[in-house]
Amino acid sequence: MGCAVKASLTKDYRDFTAGYVKAVKRMKDGRAALSHSEFSSLQKVAKDCETKAEKSRRLLQRHIGEHHC
Ligand SMILES: [Zn+2]
Repeated sequence: MGCAVKASLTKDYRDFTAGYVKAVKRMKDGRAALSHSEFSSLQKVAKDCETKAEKSRRLLQRHIGEHHC
């Protein structure tokens, strides 16, 4: 049986990373088609996901260090 906290933090990290990658890809692929406000809202999403992914990664590492799971 795996650790539920670890599983949850791992999922958060994956989800936020995926969200970041998706937003960056949309900016890259749709640069010409996106309006200025759409582009800046995608930038905001990307930055937000990046911050949250980093935070999840730190929490995950700390949890593994403390829980040895
Ligand atoms: Zn654990």
